[in-house]
Amino acid sequence: MKGQDIAPELIEAVRQQIAAMKQEIAAEPAGAGLVPLEIKCAMTSCQHGRHCLDHIRRPRAGELLMAPGSCRDCGSPVVSLPEPGGRKYGDDEEVLRTCTDQQSELIRAHYWQVPIDQWAYNQALRYGKLELVRRLERQVSAAMDPDNSFAGRGASYSGKIVAYAQHATATCCRRCAAYWHGTPAADGPEPLTTAQLRHLIKVARTYIDVRLPDLYELPAAVAAIHRQDLFGPGERASIDEAVFDELVAGRDPVGVVVPIGTSIDVEPARQHLLISRRIESAKGA
Ligand SMILES: [Zn+2]
Ligand SMILES: [Zn+2]
Repeated sequence: MKGQDIAPELIEAVRQQIAAMKQEIAAEPAGAGLVPLEIKCAMTSCQHGRHCLDHIRRPRAGELLMAPGSCRDCGSPVVSLPEPGGRKYGDDEEVLRTCTDQQSELIRAHYWQVPIDQWAYNQALRYGKLELVRRLERQVSAAMDPDNSFAGRGASYSGKIVAYAQHATATCCRRCAAYWHGTPAADGPEPLTTAQLRHLIKVARTYIDVRLPDLYELPAAVAAIHRQDLFGPGERASIDEAVFDELVAGRDPVGVVVPIGTSIDVEPARQHLLISRRIESAKGA
């Protein structure tokens, strides 16, 4: 599947849309040992305008489905999606609208904006853009394979540059692609059309161009990350403490990084994010 280059105007427009929504895209990778807070597809933080737009999933057993573009948690209409059949696959405008709308869904906004962890960042440099795009095409295609409905659902949440692009752009699995991009039902047998698959790859490539504008085409030599550069247990605990306090105080979880092996556990809840800890800490009350 050979795609064409992403137009510089499109990359700039996506960047500006995100900036115009007063959200920041990290320009630098996260420090060694820091990874995105593990936000998953069904999580929401509605009070910050970060919803879950999966209208294919019922809010609760027995309840009616939400209208497309509405949040399955709070029920508010959030974005207006094209009518079925109204998609302009491959069109820059369709890509721009989708990337902009994705700032209103928690997991997408998180991956659009969070600093890319050092492993994933180094991996991008080591691949170079040409190889990275090849891998992106391969992995997005594999995730859309109708013969494997679990394909892509295990996309990692850190350490892999392709996974960042996939989570941000809803090209991680058939389920996310179905409600974001109007592609065939997640559990159905229908394959994506060539135009749909090309479109998904184009959206994912746009992410790479927005987030890694200076990536060389060819592989670059990258120094290894040494164990001694990572956080010790004490430092890890104090970072966790600070992040936990901020989240509990009501900070928007989008873009938050935590240490590898964090003790903060972010679980999906229907009405709000539940943040708990595996390890009981000095917090007491
Ligand atoms: Zn909501
Ligand atoms: Zn997904």
